[in-house]
Amino acid sequence: MPASDKFELISEMAKRRGYFWPSYEIYGGVGGFYTFGPLGSKVKRKIEDKFRHFFTRRLNIFEIESSVITPGKIFEASGHVDHFREPMVECRDCKRGFRADHLLQEIAGMSDTETEKLTLKELMDKIKQRNVHCPECDGDFRKAKHFMTMFTTTIGPYSEATGYGRPEAAQGIFVEFRRLCDYARENLPFGVFQIGHALRNEISPRQGLIRLREFTIMDVEFFFDPEDSNCPLLKDVENETLRLLTAGTKLKGKKESVEVTVKEALNQGHIKAEWQAFFMALSKRFLMELGVPEDKQRFIEKLDWERAHYSLQGFDQEIYLERWGWVEVSGHNYRTDFDLRRHMEFSGVDMTVFKEYEKPVWEEEVTIQPVMPKIGPAFKGKASEIVRLLSNADPKKVQMALKRKAFYSLKGFKILPEHVKIMRTKVKKDGKRFIPHVVEPSFGSDRLVYIALEYAYKKKRGRTLLTLPRDLAPIQVGVYPLLNKDELPEKAKQVYQLLMDQRVMTEYDESGSIGRRYARADEIGTPLGVTVDYQTLKDDTVTIRDRDTWKQVRTAIEELPELLRAYLKYQIDFDGLGQPIKD
Ligand code: AMP
Repeated sequence: MPASDKFELISEMAKRRGYFWPSYEIYGGVGGFYTFGPLGSKVKRKIEDKFRHFFTRRLNIFEIESSVITPGKIFEASGHVDHFREPMVECRDCKRGFRADHLLQEIAGMSDTETEKLTLKELMDKIKQRNVHCPECDGDFRKAKHFMTMFTTTIGPYSEATGYGRPEAAQGIFVEFRRLCDYARENLPFGVFQIGHALRNEISPRQGLIRLREFTIMDVEFFFDPEDSNCPLLKDVENETLRLLTAGTKLKGKKESVEVTVKEALNQGHIKAEWQAFFMALSKRFLMELGVPEDKQRFIEKLDWERAHYSLQGFDQEIYLERWGWVEVSGHNYRTDFDLRRHMEFSGVDMTVFKEYEKPVWEEEVTIQPVMPKIGPAFKGKASEIVRLLSNADPKKVQMALKRKAFYSLKGFKILPEHVKIMRTKVKKDGKRFIPHVVEPSFGSDRLVYIALEYAYKKKRGRTLLTLPRDLAPIQVGVYPLLNKDELPEKAKQVYQLLMDQRVMTEYDESGSIGRRYARADEIGTPLGVTVDYQTLKDDTVTIRDRDTWKQVRTAIEELPELLRAYLKYQIDFDGLGQPIKD
C-alpha cells in the first residue's frame, strides 16, 4: 500500500483543516474513537439532514430519540446477547487482540463469504495453515474465542442490573412500538427512524471513520402488513437500476453483479419485499447525492450464514473505496416480525395491530370449560388454581394435546379429557390482530462523511480540491478582501455580514495572499469565493470564483444573496451568477 494513498492524504488534510481526528490524542489516543472538528461536524449534520429529507419525504415516517444505555433484558429478547459477538485471536507475545476473520481476509486473501461460516476451530486451523502471525509483533496466537461486542455496564449501583450500550438504534424503536403504533393510529404502513450514537466494542478498529467503537447510526424501521405489502411509491423508482450481487451468484463462487431495474429485481425474485426494493433504490440515489457515481455502488446479498439472526433477506449496499475496495455503507434487512414477536414474548405486551376485514367473516372459535365435578375430586385444594391456569391456556393447544396424547400438561398438572369440555362455536369476526413485518435500511453517518470526502478529493495542477456537493460543503461562501488595506477589509466585512444575515454559511478571510486564501478554500471544499477589489469601492460589484473550474464572474452586491442561494440549491449554474471576467 503506498504511504500516501487517498486515505492517508484525506486523514492528514482532515486533521490540519478541522474535519476530524483521532480522539484523546493528548493521551496517546484510543482506537475506534474520533472527534469531528468544526468543519467535519457540519458536513456530518448536513448528511444526516439529507438522510432525514430523503427517507421521510412523501412517506409516513417519523423520527424519535431513545436512550443509548439499554437494560439487559431488551438485548436478551432481541437475540443480541447470544449473537452479537465476533471471533477473535490474541497474540501470545504482545497480547493484542484481532478479529480472526479479518486477519484471514487481510493477510491470507480469503473473502468474507469464505471466512464467515468458519467455526472457531476452523478459523484457527486456517490461521495456522496459512501461516498468519500477529501484524504487530509477528507472534503466534492463542486459541480463537468469541468476544461479545456490546459494551456492558451496570445501571445504577445494582451490580445485577446489567445494561448494554446499544449497538443499533432499532431496538429503541421496537420497544416503543405500542405507543408509536397508537401515535400512527394503527395505520400501516408507517415508519420510525432515529439518528443517534451506537456503541460496538470492535476488536481491532484500524480504518479511521470506517470502523469506530462509537458512531452515529441512522436506522429506519418500516412497518407494514405482510398480506398487503405493495409499495404504492414503487412507480417512482421502478426503472432505477441496481447493481446486485445475488446470493445465487455468490454460491457459485462468482463475483459479477447484474444490473437490473428495481422492477426486474422484484419480478425475477432477487428482492423479496417491495418496500425493501424501494428503500434500496432510495439509498442508491442518496449516495449519488453524496457524490458517489452509480458504477461505484453495488448491493450484495447476504448468504444464509452471513445474515443477522433476525433477517429473512439481507443486502449490504457497498461503495468502492481506494484503500479497502468494496465497503458497506448501509444494511438492508427484511426483519419480518422477529423483533416485535420476541418483545411480545419477553414483555407480555401486545404488539399486534388490528386489521378490519372488508366483510365480516364467521370463524370457528374453540373454548374450554372446566368440568368441576371431575376437577374438584381429582385436584382437591388445587382445583381453583387449575381453573385459573386453564383460563389462560391456549384452547387449541389443549385440544391438540388431548387428541394426540390423551392428556395435557399444565404447569406440572396432568389434565385428562374428562376434566374439560371443548366447545366449538361460530363467531362473527370484523377483523384480526397481527404482528407487522419490518424492513430496515440502516446507515452509519461517520462512514458517509469519509466517503463523501474521498469522492470529492481531487488534485488540480498540484493543488487539492474538495469538490463536495454544494449542499454538503461546511462553508458555502468565502468572502475575501483582495488586499488587507485601502478600506477593502471594511467593505468585505459588510458583504460577509450581509450574507450571514441572509443565512448563507459564509466565512471571512483576510490572512495571507489572495492565492493562498483561494487554495485553502479549495482544499476545504468551499464552493464559491466572493472577492472585494478596487472596482467594488467604485460600483458595488464583486467577483465570484468557482472552486472547481476557477472561473470568475462579476455581479452586484445587492443581487448576491438571491443568486448564491439559487446556486447552492442547484437551481442555477455558475454562469448564471454574473458577467464573465476575461483573464
Ligand atoms: P450493521 O448493523 O452492521 O449492518 O451496520 C449498519 C451500518 O452502520 C453499516 O452499514 C455502517 O454504515 C455502519 N456501521 C456499522 N458498524 C460500524 C462501525 N464500527 N463504525 C462505523 N460505522 C459502522
